[in-house]
Amino acid sequence: MLDARDAVQLTQALIRCPSVTPEEGGALRLIADILGAAGFETHLLRFSTDGTPDVDNLYARFGRGNPHLLFAGHTDVVPVGDEAKWSVPPFSGEIRDGKVYGRGATDMKGGVAASIAAALRFIDRHPNFGGSIGFLITGDEEGPAINGTVKVLDWMQDNGETFDHCILGEPTNPEQLGDMIKIGRRGSLTGHIVVQGKQGHVAYPHLTDNPIPGMMKLVQGVLAEPLDHGTVHFGATNCEFTTLDVGNKATNVIPNEVRATFNIRFNDVWTPETLEAEIRKRLDQAAGNSIRYEARFEPTNAIAFMTQPGPFVEKMSAAIEAMTGIKPQLSTTGGTSDARFICKYGPVIEFGLIGKTMHQIDEHADVAELEALAKIYEGAIERYFAS
Ligand SMILES: [Zn+2]
Repeated sequence: MLDARDAVQLTQALIRCPSVTPEEGGALRLIADILGAAGFETHLLRFSTDGTPDVDNLYARFGRGNPHLLFAGHTDVVPVGDEAKWSVPPFSGEIRDGKVYGRGATDMKGGVAASIAAALRFIDRHPNFGGSIGFLITGDEEGPAINGTVKVLDWMQDNGETFDHCILGEPTNPEQLGDMIKIGRRGSLTGHIVVQGKQGHVAYPHLTDNPIPGMMKLVQGVLAEPLDHGTVHFGATNCEFTTLDVGNKATNVIPNEVRATFNIRFNDVWTPETLEAEIRKRLDQAAGNSIRYEARFEPTNAIAFMTQPGPFVEKMSAAIEAMTGIKPQLSTTGGTSDARFICKYGPVIEFGLIGKTMHQIDEHADVAELEALAKIYEGAIERYFAS
């Protein structure tokens, strides 16, 4: 019989649900059953969009009072890769040498399990705590992220379900539990540049227009000056060219066009719109009236956002320090996460397991680390509802 108040057992049970995006694999149903039995109101939500697979999600809430502390996460996992390379079957949840192995152990079934165990233990002790604890668990974080958290948040708004603060249990710690809370994330903007020339024979350059030197000028124009120097909680905005393509196999032909792609990870100085305008300005300046080019920016939902440090962040920090003895760094580093959607509805911070083996062969989480994370979440819930 599964004890859902035990984060390790629950992690193992969730790993045994083969929930590679977009498969639900039984993971959300298992959580819905557990939370339902503990007195949560549960809603399994299936969303569809043309051109993407249907995805199941779960929203659950205990209590109707305020404040409402929401835990967010995902039960979908990335594919296992070459299964033969795993030391244990990737959906076995086997424990070896004090570690739970399996796809999703750290990213992020372990985090989901720890938050559920913590909430159930807190509710056991304080059944009439007066506030609400919610769970927003998606099955579409590792995939297109279209029928997942975004739609659950829409559904919540349509149904009058608000929250006051959110903890997203993604793996945030680089080396040891307690290293890092993410209080925000950088935004991401991708752009493409095409420079047009005129193809021809290298021996007759006056009859041609080589687009390569023009592209070099544009690239330098974009990169010459830093976009900013960082802000209090963010590093400097960074632009990286990721490819530069001519595709010309011939050594005696001047090519017709050159293409380049770049990606910018940006801080809270910018919005995607202001950043696009700045890049276009730099391109225009570099191009003058001699370089013929076009620039196109991909639509992005990855804005830069941040939850201001304050009582909520301090309570989480205190719970971490009480358990680990480490004062966590408040960081905005790393890639994007579903926090970029959640932040539009309320303050969100991220804290979870150690991220070292996520998406890898032999992904695993320490048994002791899972238990400690559950205690940290429990401490955070205690502190949250104490005032
Ligand atoms: Zn994840």
